[in-house]
Order: sequence, then structure tokens, then C-alpha cells
Amino acid sequence: MRAAVYIRVSTDDQVKHGYSLAEQREACCSRARILGAQEVTVFSDEGISGSTLERPGLNEMREAAREGRFQLLVVRDADRLSRKLAHQLLITDELEKCGIKLEFLDFDWKDTPEGRLFYSIRGAIAEYEREKIRDRMGRGKEQKARQGGIPINFDVFGYQYDPETGKVSYLEHEKKVVVDIFNWFTSEDIGANGIAKRLNENGIPTRRRAGRWHRQVVKQILANTVYIGLWRFKDMLIKVPPIIDENTFYRAQEKLREVRRLYAGKQKHGYLLSGLITCADCGNTMTGAYARWWGKRERRYTCNKTCQGYKNEGCRPAKYILADVIEEAVWGQIQAWLIDPDRLAREAMGQIIGQSDPREQIMVINKHLADIEKGQEALIDVIAKGYLDHIDSIKKKLTELKRRKEKLEKRKEELLLACRQREELFAKIDEIREISESILRRLDDLAFTEKRSLVRALVKQVIVSGRGVPGGNGLRFINVTVLAKIPEQRISS
Ligand SMILES: [Zn+2]
Repeated sequence: MRAAVYIRVSTDDQVKHGYSLAEQREACCSRARILGAQEVTVFSDEGISGSTLERPGLNEMREAAREGRFQLLVVRDADRLSRKLAHQLLITDELEKCGIKLEFLDFDWKDTPEGRLFYSIRGAIAEYEREKIRDRMGRGKEQKARQGGIPINFDVFGYQYDPETGKVSYLEHEKKVVVDIFNWFTSEDIGANGIAKRLNENGIPTRRRAGRWHRQVVKQILANTVYIGLWRFKDMLIKVPPIIDENTFYRAQEKLREVRRLYAGKQKHGYLLSGLITCADCGNTMTGAYARWWGKRERRYTCNKTCQGYKNEGCRPAKYILADVIEEAVWGQIQAWLIDPDRLAREAMGQIIGQSDPREQIMVINKHLADIEKGQEALIDVIAKGYLDHIDSIKKKLTELKRRKEKLEKRKEELLLACRQREELFAKIDEIREISESILRRLDDLAFTEKRSLVRALVKQVIVSGRGVPGGNGLRFINVTVLAKIPEQRISS
């Protein structure tokens, strides 16, 4: 049998009564052994009042109880568990539900008047009252969180939590893994599954030492705002030290969304535009549906969601559009782009290409900055030469110059970023031009999967409004807009 011992002294106990932890520990442990325990774990709280339930030792003991790590608990008296009767009832009830036998040291508790009272009250306490106590305990954690503290159950990969101080800090070796996961995901052609595999191959331990990495865990890490410093607890966001910069994080979110959208659609029956079509009338994603029409099987897309769990059921009456019709329209658009790649570039990247060349603006800013520096030097010179009559106005002027300089430097940084993006885009256009030439030559011979990856490389979204005619064959009643994939713009303001 495994036993646990819980000991506690408040500062008062020590001062007034000379009680010590060592004494309690010894007495409780020897009682546990007399009762047949082979293994005794000691949980202790020193100098902590018994009026609060937020005690590290107590929390650990209750956690161990829930995990079934011991079968007998020895404490000197019920007061060690809590000063408050309600809390004593709660804890003892909780322990007994875990199948743990309670042993109070000082006397045979059940045979004393207090003991009998204790047990009879406990038997009588209504479930809703216990709920109220639990509620208050939950609120205690919430309260702590609202005050900017971290509740006890902060258990997040990459961080460690100190229950003594309530402080969260990095766990360096895990932090490094988080950084790797985000970098791989945002800069390589790798998914959550590939990352999990790589982590396992590299022998990177999970938080639960024995476990292996699973793509779901990787996805959870990639989607957790805790890594940009915002930990979600109930309805609150609590600040913690960030691990990932926001740009990287939002790039990861974009990729996660894209993956979700692409695989949301059904893969059966070869739907070229699975997950890419949005119904302009109801906002749903349109997915492939294989349906019978006048005895004939037809491939269609629909915004109608018949299965459980969708908030938006889609258009009423249900809207179906022939797959061939819309796929032909989109394919036609892609061919047009490939024949004229500059047009694709214009459509996809028009916003950035259209802007004036940031390099010119940078040159102007550089000139302003040089002027400001000259001005600063001149003013400092005046002070150095001892012309102190106008010292206040000079200081004011210097502050003003400093502010202007900072503003310009910030703008310059933004422009430099825009510059880099522009260059990347031009490189990308060249790349598309090359690819399109080689694809055009064999466009009609492409296999379905090749076609689909081409569609996914070039098309960001297809928006459809209006209704097709069931069994009809034209585009007369629907309106198709094909949006080219726009490389992400991240010019911050
Ligand atoms: Zn719809």
C-alpha cells in the first residue's frame, strides 16, 4: 500500500505553539507505516494559512489523489486540511471518492463528539452546496487571472510555471522546439504531420516524456496565441512572455486556414475546385456533391450543408451548380493567365506593383534624416560653445528633432520592407512566366492531380453568385469570379 502524509504549519502555529513540520512529518509517517504503508509520500505547506485552499502542497496532494498515486492519507487533524469546515468537507469527500482512506493522527476521530458531528454534517451536506464551494474555488483561480496572475493550471509547452511566485518563464529547450515548429511550418513546404514526424525522428521529447509527437499536438501549438504572449483562459487573454513574433504567427494561421479550406471539400469523384468555391449568396464554402438528376449521375457543387454541426445551412432552396460548367469557367481563366502571365501578375499583385517605387521615397527620407542630424549637431554646438541664453528653447528644439527623426526612421523601415517584398514579387512573376510556358505546351495532357495542383497554385478563391439551372449547361444564370492568389502583404502601419 502507498500512503501520503499531508503536513502544514502556519506561522502562528510555529510561534504560538512551537509546532514544527519535522514533528508532524515523523508522527504521520510512522503511523502510516504502522498501518502497513510500504511507500510514503510527504506533501507539506509551511507558513501558509489553512484558510485558503490555494496551497502548493495541498494542490499537489489532491492531484496525486486524483491520479490514484496513494491509498491512505495521514494527517494530524482535520484542521491541517483546512481551517474551514466547508473546505474540510469538500476535501475529505473528494479523497474518499478517490477511494482513499483517511487517518487522523491525534485521536480516533470518529469516536469523538467533534468527529461524529463532522461526519454527520458531511453526510447531510447537499450536493448543490458542494457545487457552490467548487464554484468559489473556480472563481478564485479566475480572480487571480483577472488580476494578471496566472492560475495554478498553467501547463503549456515552452513555459514553466512557479506556483510560489505565480510567475511564468521560458523552459529553454522547449522554447527552442516551439521556434523550430513555427519556422519549419512557415518557411518550408511541410505540414503538421511532417513536423510531428521530424520531431519524433530527432528524438525531441514531448511534455509528457513518454509520448510521441502527433500532428494534432503540432497543430495546437501552431494555433495557440500563447506563443505571441496571449494566453487564453476562459474568456480572458492573459499576458505571458511571447516566443514567436506576430508576423510569423499570423503567417502560420494563414497556412493553417488554407490547409483546412483545401481539405474541407470532399475528395471523391475528382472535384477540381474542392474547398476553393465560396457561395456569394450565403457565404458557405461549396463542396462537391454527386447527385442523380433525371436518372443521370451528375457532379455538382453545392453550398448546402446537410450534416450536423454547420451553423449556416446554406441557400434555400438548396443550390446546386454543375461541376463541369464552373470548372470549365475557372480552367478558362487559368489558361488565359498562363498565356499572358503578366496579366496574372497584374491581377494577383496589382496592389503592390501599382505603388510607386519605395526606393525613391527612401532616398527622400535619407536626405531628411541627414538634415536633421546636421541640425542636431549645430544645436549641440551652440550649447557647447556656452551660449546658454536660449537653453530652454534649444532643448525643446532638440526634442522636436529627435521625435521627427524617430518617425522618419520608422517609415524608412516600412519602406525597406516594402522594397524587399517588391523584389520577391518580381522574382515570383518571372518564375510564373517560366512555369506557364512549360505548362502551356502540354496543358491538355495534364492529369487530374496535376490540374488540381495547378489550380491550387494559382487560384485563391472562386466566388459564385446566382443559381444554375438543374440539368442546364450554361453560365447564363451564374456569375463566377476567380481571384488569383495574392502573396501576402505585410506592410505594417
Ligand atoms: Zn449559397
